[in-house]
Amino acid sequence: MTSAVVVGSGPNGLAAAIRLAQVGLEVTVVEAHDRPGGGTRTSELTVPGLLHDECAAFHPTGVASPFFASLRLERHGLSWRWPEIDLAHPLDDGRAGIAARDRTETARSLGVDAAAWDKLFAGSTEHFDALVGEVFRPLAHLPRHPVVLAGFGVRAVQPSTWIAGRFSDDPARALFTGVAAHAFSRLDTPLSSSVGMLLTTAAHAVGWPVAEGGSERITDALLAELASLGGKVVTGTTVTSLDQLRDLTGRRPDAVLLDTSPQAAVTIVGDVMPGRVRRALDRYRHGPAAFKVDFAIDGEIPWTNPDCARAGTVHLGGTAEEIAATEKDTVRGRMPARPFVLLGQQFLADPRRSSGSVNPVYAYAHVPHGYPGDATDAIIGQIERFAPGFRDRIVATSIRTPAALEEYNPNYICGDISTGANTARQIVFRPRATVNPYSLGVPGVFLCSSATPPGAGVHGMGGFRAAEAALTSLR
Ligand SMILES: Cc1cc2nc3c(=O)[nH]c(=O)nc-3n(C[C@H](O)[C@H](O)[C@H](O)COP(=O)(O)OP(=O)(O)OC[C@H]3O[C@@H](n4cnc5c(N)ncnc54)[C@H](O)[C@@H]3O)c2cc1C
Repeated sequence: MTSAVVVGSGPNGLAAAIRLAQVGLEVTVVEAHDRPGGGTRTSELTVPGLLHDECAAFHPTGVASPFFASLRLERHGLSWRWPEIDLAHPLDDGRAGIAARDRTETARSLGVDAAAWDKLFAGSTEHFDALVGEVFRPLAHLPRHPVVLAGFGVRAVQPSTWIAGRFSDDPARALFTGVAAHAFSRLDTPLSSSVGMLLTTAAHAVGWPVAEGGSERITDALLAELASLGGKVVTGTTVTSLDQLRDLTGRRPDAVLLDTSPQAAVTIVGDVMPGRVRRALDRYRHGPAAFKVDFAIDGEIPWTNPDCARAGTVHLGGTAEEIAATEKDTVRGRMPARPFVLLGQQFLADPRRSSGSVNPVYAYAHVPHGYPGDATDAIIGQIERFAPGFRDRIVATSIRTPAALEEYNPNYICGDISTGANTARQIVFRPRATVNPYSLGVPGVFLCSSATPPGAGVHGMGGFRAAEAALTSLR
């Protein structure tokens, strides 16, 4: 029987394992952590009974993923839950931009810019499935929907600051810029609007849902699917060489897929990796970091703008200009006094994550790569700015610094939760410029993590496509 080992059990690793098991390979997943799941785990981080997502929280890419959809994960208990409003972006003057599946809600919040917003997103929202088929893969490919891709691409290649410049008032400018900031990159460079264009379109097309019971339910469903196909998972084992895999499974696997950083892939593959591949992976760059704080709070957040109390995600960073400046600072290694903060109120869509009147609140700030300081006060300051009195409601906190994020998951090098900077080059060529970005230049050995196309996010599409590349090589 043909055998495969997948190193790492994040959503890409598990997707790769499932795809290989679907066609009859004997598959073993080897995971360093004592629990599988990578960026999709949920734990009681603050007080008993409160469920906190350890990493990924909102799942526009999960609900849009063609591979996840094909697995019908609801058979294994996965259920998406949508907040009333996907995203709110409050401003100091009390107004807030809103993105929702209901486009009239969005238009209501954007006033003079409602028509311009609609014009920007109507086409890609209407053809979202076709768009996903084009962008959840390596960008260098023959498109099946060239018109849809071109319509999206002509905007996605622009700097985010140009797209924001289409709007005349602050709510729309800030709303778009906050979503673009998910790229953790400078917002005045080419392609820096691509992440914002895709995630905003997703908000209108499929929403930004949470997984009922926490993101770990995604892992549970993928594990159940893998088990039903005969796949095995070994935890608590860090892989450092290909020989170790032979010792672990008792034979030399026919295929090896690495849900790891490119750096770890260089170590694991070792001297058999061709020099040109090693040099390319050595040049792969990591980006700014996240500094994460989970809160247990008594009651709800006392937002100044009432729409924020209905939104799953709230972006805290002020105007478009302020966010562009703070993102530039973090990329350059300077900690801003008021960093961009992404705040999650998953409990609004999934109230069973709370305990009585105590609710879990999720927040992380964008900070410089490897930032050694404490950003807790800066995060609380940004929340207080738009919700005075928040501080008094805090019951408990759990903090994860950039170093702690890497310790938790070796793919988050120095706190880079995207496993690679979203520079223009690395958006197009990830992890290196080649027709098969999953190949590590060694027969049967592939990279499948979010350092490969389509990049970060819980969608499993990097794993699925790397598995397809492996199957092609085995034929
Ligand atoms: C704070 C935070 C917030 C986020 N928010 C969101 C969000 O809201 N929505 C979203 O879609 N995404 C979000 N993400 C990103 C998302 O979690 C990742 O993009 C996604 O998990 C990547 O999946 P993956 O399978 O490539 O790798 P990972 O999920 O990172 O999993 C990799 C796994 O491989 C294991 N591993 C690595 N090296 C080895 C080795 N040598 N030996 C054995 N095991 C190894 C690791 O322990 C880990 O379990 C967030 C991430 C973080 C940290």
